[in-house]
Amino acid sequence: MFTKILIANRGEIAIRIMRACKELGVRTVAVYSDADQNALHVEFADEAVHLGASAPKASYLNVDKLIQAALQTKADAIHPGYGFLSENAAFAAAVESANLKFIGPSADSIRAMGDKAESKILMKKAGVPTVPGFEGLEAEAEFKKAAQEIGYPVLIKASAGGGGKGMRVVNQASELKEALDSASYEALNAFGDQRLLIEKYIAEAHHIEIQVFGDEHGNLIHLFERECSVQRRHQKIIEETPSVLLTPELRAQIGAAAVTAAKTVNYYNAGTIEFIFDAHTAQYYFLEMNTRLQVEHPVTELVAGIDLVQWQIKIAAGEKFPFAQADFRQRGHAIECRVYAEDSANGFLPSTGKLLQYIEPRGLGVRVDSGFAKGKEVTHFYDPLLAKLIVSAENRAAAIQKMQNALKEFIVHGVTTNLDFMQTVIAHADFRDGKATTNWVENVLLAKESEPALEHILAAALAELTLVNASAVRSESKNETDPYSPWKTPNGFRN
Ligand code: ADP
Ligand code: ADP
Ligand code: MG
Repeated sequence: MFTKILIANRGEIAIRIMRACKELGVRTVAVYSDADQNALHVEFADEAVHLGASAPKASYLNVDKLIQAALQTKADAIHPGYGFLSENAAFAAAVESANLKFIGPSADSIRAMGDKAESKILMKKAGVPTVPGFEGLEAEAEFKKAAQEIGYPVLIKASAGGGGKGMRVVNQASELKEALDSASYEALNAFGDQRLLIEKYIAEAHHIEIQVFGDEHGNLIHLFERECSVQRRHQKIIEETPSVLLTPELRAQIGAAAVTAAKTVNYYNAGTIEFIFDAHTAQYYFLEMNTRLQVEHPVTELVAGIDLVQWQIKIAAGEKFPFAQADFRQRGHAIECRVYAEDSANGFLPSTGKLLQYIEPRGLGVRVDSGFAKGKEVTHFYDPLLAKLIVSAENRAAAIQKMQNALKEFIVHGVTTNLDFMQTVIAHADFRDGKATTNWVENVLLAKESEPALEHILAAALAELTLVNASAVRSESKNETDPYSPWKTPNGFRN
């Protein structure tokens, strides 16, 4: 086992990983930027190294400084967390060449799955279902022909893409050229690579992903699904497992497809295969693989009964994974809400400031993975995720009930949060019926939210009434000279 691990990340995930280290008797090194000098993950670690300025490039994305910090503190491994450098093959390779262990998959696996076009070609060869489409096209005419063959609507995606960038839905042939131009321009700017792929756009889509886990001795299994369809701007906000959409047969099929996908790139450690699921046809299609620990890993931990982060560390230290597929089954139901400092009513814009009050909910089956506490500051430099609220219960209805109570108990003052917004989602009939698709928040929930609320209608009615009365009083009293005339009482009095 390692003696000391450097965590190349911040916030809740850095603390989550440090907890696992402490449970394994491993010492921890935090890294931090200027903006994070007083951050919770720095206090939580055994020691901490200052990296540099607040901008990620100068700190959490700076490969040389991170490796320097690990060598200087005599750490023997680096855990990248999620985001930042976690899916950067060059970083994984640099860590290994500094004689440190990268806690994750090999640089080759990361590279093989890093490109949407390349990985799709790989998956097709391996017999994993992919969304019908074409890679490697260049001329507009080729795209036009491909779109006709696939059938509109189609989706244009940047091969090198991520975070929803360079993605365009095209509904008809006349929109194709403009979509191609703007997507390739955006892709070139964001990734320095303008290659695009085209595929069928699945309008009523669910996002279902499979957790896979393997050791460096060739053992690899899956740990069931997570349903992550509740998204805003193609980014997840609520995740749960099991998915109400999967039958045991489908679950076994899609799980086996995920295992095949991972084995194709000789995968080890924790990884996730994302699928898009068409509830009308019960078809599932490979989307991409995330070659790292995922934000929503806790729901899997609670339902499959495994500490994924502890096992990531043990695998990286060379241990064999002692469990087989048949050793796992899903027990109960878990839901995660991502608690963001953001303004849901205002385009989900991040909200920054000092946390004047911060009280987390508690109770049986309530887990909070957080990176903040009362008095801490939320800055604009990083993702405004405050905490992940995770509940688990015997079944979905009980988990939903528990989540509603926990959301109510969660108190945050000083920044705007999405706690109320998630309360709305969780209470919605569509969510309860498993009908929330990936664009449900934008197309259904927000479309409805833009209708005036009852309080607003009442306030408008009262304002109107007051104005009408006032003008009525004025007109009725305009010829009156007696200052005490009841007509002059401006309170709505009528004869
Ligand atoms: P998951 O699939 O685990 O939900 P996301 O795609 O939402 O992961 O991304 C995980 C986290 O990493 C998010 O907080 C996101 O803001 C951050 N992230 C994603 N891509 C990058 C990137 N290129 N650089 C920095 N952070 C990133
Ligand atoms: P990213 O790298 O940005 O995560 P993904 O390929 O994983 O890109 O897609 C992100 C999201 O976009 C998915 O979760 C889904 O909501 C939507 N999406 C992707 N491909 C399709 C498709 N073919 N049809 C419909 N929606 C899609
Ligand atoms: Mg994705």
